Amino acid sequence: AGRDVILAVNNIEVIYDHVILVLKGVSLEVPRGGVVALLGGNGAGKTTTLKAISNLLRAERGEVTRGSIMFQGERVDRMSPNELVRRGCIQVMEGRHCFGHLTIEENLLTGAFTRRDGAAAIRQDLEKVYGYFPRLRERRKSMAGYTSGGEQQMCAIGRALMSRPALVLLDEPSMGLAPQIVGEIFEIVKELNASENVSFLLAEQNTNMALKYATYGYILETGRVVMDGDAEMLRANADVKEFYLGVS
Ligand code: ATP
Repeated sequence: AGRDVILAVNNIEVIYDHVILVLKGVSLEVPRGGVVALLGGNGAGKTTTLKAISNLLRAERGEVTRGSIMFQGERVDRMSPNELVRRGCIQVMEGRHCFGHLTIEENLLTGAFTRRDGAAAIRQDLEKVYGYFPRLRERRKSMAGYTSGGEQQMCAIGRALMSRPALVLLDEPSMGLAPQIVGEIFEIVKELNASENVSFLLAEQNTNMALKYATYGYILETGRVVMDGDAEMLRANADVKEFYLGVS
């Protein structure tokens, strides 16, 4: 008690198409200001968990059929994705999803769509995003579709920041990127966490990298949390090493 929890997922079950049971009672917590990793192989249920939180399952014919989700002390599992964004919880989807035919800057500005404060405040935050991602400033007039995978991932994160989130659900930021770029992106996540107090729930197959930056981790297997603990403990654990870190 007394610990400040920004997100609490309590025993959720998710079913697709009324019959396909994919999450079988997942519980997890993100402390305010924390970076928490959600780990597991292909198809373990990481993306489904993030989409359940941000309420993006409906488009996939998925539904949370049991359990509850609390964000900043409020029950949010019946809220629209936009309401959640307005309250400070936003997902950066796997595969980056920038608008290819818009410039980087136009993409970033779309991230401010739920805001009701003025253009000046939005402009100020755009500068802030460029401060964190100097590469995006350099490329601000380029069509996103013509930028590199790493730049598009940065653009997707930058766009999310434009909504002034308290919690970012980040789905496999490392996917398809060179290790050096992945490192660069994780360093920025770390900085955002430290300087802006943005909390992160980070779904990753790159266990090694995720556990370097997260303070706590959950491991999912076929829709269940099979292990959780401090990042250091998980990195030292023999089973984690054998099954997820590629060393034994
Ligand atoms: P990945 O790294 O591939 O994204 P993941 O851990 O994020 O893996 P999910 O994408 O959440 O896993 O998928 C979990 C399970 O749910 C998989 O077995 C997948 O086939 C199934 N699934 C995902 N989306 C749907 C859908 N729209 N309809 C039916 N089944 C789905």
